[in-house]
Amino acid sequence: MTARINHWIGGVSTPGSSTRTAPVHNPATGECTAEVLLADQADVDAAVADAKRAAAEWRHASLSERSSVLFAFRELLHRHADELAAVVTAEHGKVLADAAGEVARGLENVEFATGVPQLLKGGFSEQASVGVDVYSIRQPLGVVAGITPFNFPVMVPLWMCANAIACGNAFVLKPSEKDPSASLFLADLWQHAGLPDGVFTVLQGDKVAVDGLLAHPDVAAVSFVGSTPIARSIYETGTAHGKRVQALGGAKNHMVVLPDADVDLAADAAVSAAYGAAGERCMAISVTVAVGDVGDRLVDAIAARLPKLRVGDGASPDTDMGPLITAEHRDRVAGYVAAGAESGATVVVDGREADVPRTGFFLGTTLLDRVTPDMSVYTDEIFGPVLCVVRAETYDEALAVVNGNPYANGTAIFTRDGGAARRFQFDVEVGMVGINVPIPVPVAYYSFGGWKASLFGDTHMYGPEGVSFYTRGKVVTSRWPDPATSQVDLGFPRTR
Ligand code: NAD
Repeated sequence: MTARINHWIGGVSTPGSSTRTAPVHNPATGECTAEVLLADQADVDAAVADAKRAAAEWRHASLSERSSVLFAFRELLHRHADELAAVVTAEHGKVLADAAGEVARGLENVEFATGVPQLLKGGFSEQASVGVDVYSIRQPLGVVAGITPFNFPVMVPLWMCANAIACGNAFVLKPSEKDPSASLFLADLWQHAGLPDGVFTVLQGDKVAVDGLLAHPDVAAVSFVGSTPIARSIYETGTAHGKRVQALGGAKNHMVVLPDADVDLAADAAVSAAYGAAGERCMAISVTVAVGDVGDRLVDAIAARLPKLRVGDGASPDTDMGPLITAEHRDRVAGYVAAGAESGATVVVDGREADVPRTGFFLGTTLLDRVTPDMSVYTDEIFGPVLCVVRAETYDEALAVVNGNPYANGTAIFTRDGGAARRFQFDVEVGMVGINVPIPVPVAYYSFGGWKASLFGDTHMYGPEGVSFYTRGKVVTSRWPDPATSQVDLGFPRTR
């Protein structure tokens, strides 16, 4: 019998009412390891109803109680990090060290949220007018939903739920149906940390569950992370239903390498950031823009590193790069390599010819040189182990390439010239910038988000903007006058 992956509603694992399922695979073996239930509208209604009940109670929890739960959750996550990483590897395919890195970066968000008493401090203005004080408070929204992608089944849910829960909301997670088990592991840890049942819910599912959440009158806000077409539609549908929405989309991240850069350092960074997690990271470097005469040296240095990467089962400690998420996705990525070659790119290393395990969804690393912005390998997010090199004569030409791309999640510049780096930071139209840092994912006390087609909405995720997203402000104007001085005054109140 294939294992069945349930929902988590009201603090218990439940199959709900729908009998639709989707297969879950171990991408390293190609085996179907479980079937995940896919919620129908009745499951959405049950999950949201329970979350609504829980939210009404949880908003009364004191800041110190919420903080205590978060500290306990932090300890449990820390203690079970290796087990959780193994759960991720078994369904996603990324190597264990990478999965452990994902857990660690997710943990940062929990640590940030333990500071909720500080984060929710309002302002107070004594004597704003004579005898009048004004102060601000931030309150939870109620039930908030998070819809997450397959590529970070722990970190992205933690980007959202740590702050949402700390701020006093109930959080309904709709994880990716491709690797759903980590969400239940998190649910169990939250429960052991003392979080009241219903404050963290897992609703397994696909578009049906998402559409149900987007239209549900009791869901106040939606956080989404995934591909750009879905992000755009989530934003449009969610806001049309009167919800607060932040929807983070896809990416095409460029790494600009200036002629003065240390070529070995830049090549190490490009290889790590392009092929880590088989390129299935929203902050992966998928384009290197080589400026001036650095191009040939850089391409040679990257190509020299690729045969050394060990491709195999991510559960083995000897592996550097695991498989892709599904057979279909592997074939789609391989199709892009073919399209790149047909459109005139130079195939320096061809991942289709690599000696990789035949079971599972593996593809070797590909390096395409002399890619131009009109090619599909450049315009589309490939989300696989394919690095494109675009050649540019000058810094200005390189900048125009980066700013001309509709995606604007992350970017990096590699140089020894501080002035050039600062100019790039000032000029580039991208939300997250690395200076000699290829994957500039901000630490948890800043916020994460791209620009343009990489983010729909006006708040970035986690950090201070996350706290703001999951709360609404209230301003109180207060006075305690002496009744003896009271009189009728129809004039518009003004400060005195
Ligand atoms: P996806 O867009 O296919 O799916 C994301 C979520 O949306 C999943 O929970 C999925 O079940 C749901 N979904 C899928 N199709 C839907 C539909 N038609 N209607 C409603 N919901 C739907 O993305 P994915 O393949 O899981 O993840 C990879 C993508 O996510 C890449 O494009 C990557 O760049 C992006 N991503 C972005 C960030 C970021 O921070 N900007 C982070 C991680 C991943």
